[in-house]
Amino acid sequence: MPFSSRESCLPRRRHKNYTGVTMDKKMLMGVIIKRLKKEFPVLKCGLDFNSPFELLVSTILSAQSTDVHVNKVTKTIFMKYRNVKDFAAADRAVLEKDVSSVNFYRNKAQNIQNAAKILVEKFGGAVPQTMEELVSLPGVARKTANIVLYNAFNITEGIAVDTHVIRLAGRLGLTENTDPVKIEQDLMEITPKKEWGNITHLLINHGRKTCQARKMMHEDCVLFDICPSRDS
Ligand code: SF4
Repeated sequence: MPFSSRESCLPRRRHKNYTGVTMDKKMLMGVIIKRLKKEFPVLKCGLDFNSPFELLVSTILSAQSTDVHVNKVTKTIFMKYRNVKDFAAADRAVLEKDVSSVNFYRNKAQNIQNAAKILVEKFGGAVPQTMEELVSLPGVARKTANIVLYNAFNITEGIAVDTHVIRLAGRLGLTENTDPVKIEQDLMEITPKKEWGNITHLLINHGRKTCQARKMMHEDCVLFDICPSRDS
């Protein structure tokens, strides 16, 4: 594990809470996972897909857009462009128009098409199954690669850090960092590896339902007593 060597060097920050129990971040994360699993017993990716490539396309489109909206768009485009070769050969202007209701559609259309071309030319049309290969594709950073690896291939390489995860990790006192890559490292150090895929879904669900960007529903929150932001 790439970050384990740092672990012993990290200060063991203690976390005060209403439970009367002093917790370090690992203990805190354990309680968070247990409670959120009870709150959200069924965890699944919010994006609809029928193949690893469809998930790759959907995840690229989902940056700064909602899963619900992306699912509406992909329902149509996945009928028109049936596979990676269709995306690679598409007329760019038409593809842009097809995804134009999504934020940053020009960039995203360009990345999707260029990624499709690389997949055809270098990977035999298949989506690669390693972090290193995935992040070599246009428009694919660690978040997208983690989502594809975990949800399409059941491979756990890291923790997908999206805007909900960034916000909640900070509010819950799980990290002092704001950079997604550093937040991912911090979360990997305090989360059992078997939960790396789940923690993203759990924090996203909690962020959508209770701890929203503009509205924190402290009074309805199952993490209230252990949350350092409960008075904010
Ligand atoms: S107590 Fe408030 S700030 Fe903390 S996780 Fe719950 S809703 Fe978010």
